[in-house]
Amino acid sequence: MQQRTIQKAVEVVGIGLHKGEPIRLRLEPLSVDAGIVFYREDLAMSIPLSPKAVIDTRMATVIGSEKGFISTIEHFLSAIYGYGIDNLRVIVDGNEMPIMDGSAISFCLLLDEAGIAEQEASKRIIRVKRPLEVRDGEKFVRLLPAERATFDFRIDFAHPVIGEQSEQFVFSTQNFVEEIARARTFGFAKDIQYLQSQNLALGASLHNAIGLDDHKVLNPEGLRFDNEFARHKILDAMGDMMVSGSNILAKYESFAGSHRLNFELTSKLLSDSNNYEFVAVESLQSRAFEKSFA
Ligand SMILES: [Zn+2]
Repeated sequence: MQQRTIQKAVEVVGIGLHKGEPIRLRLEPLSVDAGIVFYREDLAMSIPLSPKAVIDTRMATVIGSEKGFISTIEHFLSAIYGYGIDNLRVIVDGNEMPIMDGSAISFCLLLDEAGIAEQEASKRIIRVKRPLEVRDGEKFVRLLPAERATFDFRIDFAHPVIGEQSEQFVFSTQNFVEEIARARTFGFAKDIQYLQSQNLALGASLHNAIGLDDHKVLNPEGLRFDNEFARHKILDAMGDMMVSGSNILAKYESFAGSHRLNFELTSKLLSDSNNYEFVAVESLQSRAFEKSFA
């Protein structure tokens, strides 16, 4: 399997969740071994993707430094994981990614429009070699060695629409597009009101999130899946694992995981070279992971 970039540059304009202002996103091909590199066009500032670039995980995954940052990269990065993209320049003209419809499907369509380009070098991935876990009380995220990438997520919200729900997802690009990519982020109306009083989440609306009051879903169109909430947590987890810079081959499991726990997990993974190895996909004993990207 070869490294992947895109065939041609593509652009889209969407609203930023926090400022509520238009953000222009442009994707450009990059050469072999360049990796995923974010670029703040307004600041002429590059931010190569890595857990070391993460500066905040409270409301979303944020990369950058004091000079400039880019917020809410996780939905975009789940599409990058899903399509197996290795090398890409990700250009924005503001401090957040466009929220689009609150899921990853718009980014999938953008990548479809750009087309995937196979490059003249072997695709390398991070193979997890031993179990790793990060806990916060009963909440946990963990990675286990596996021949296929799978994501199991369980949540338990004291809310009549959410409650306890889970999703078990066996990764392939096609499964990602059909089962995960359309699952939207969600928020509670009372939290949104508070955030907006603090000048945050100014772009949040029922066009880019599932909104909930104490009893019900507020969106007139309803849910896209019965367990859309658990599916969105998998979408987030895939994006957060992609912060490592490469596709991770492992079984991911979580109860009530968060961006913070995901970030601690990828940091822990990469902190000890006994935890993982960079391997060419074609050198894996099983062809299962390679076939996932077919
Ligand atoms: Zn999310």
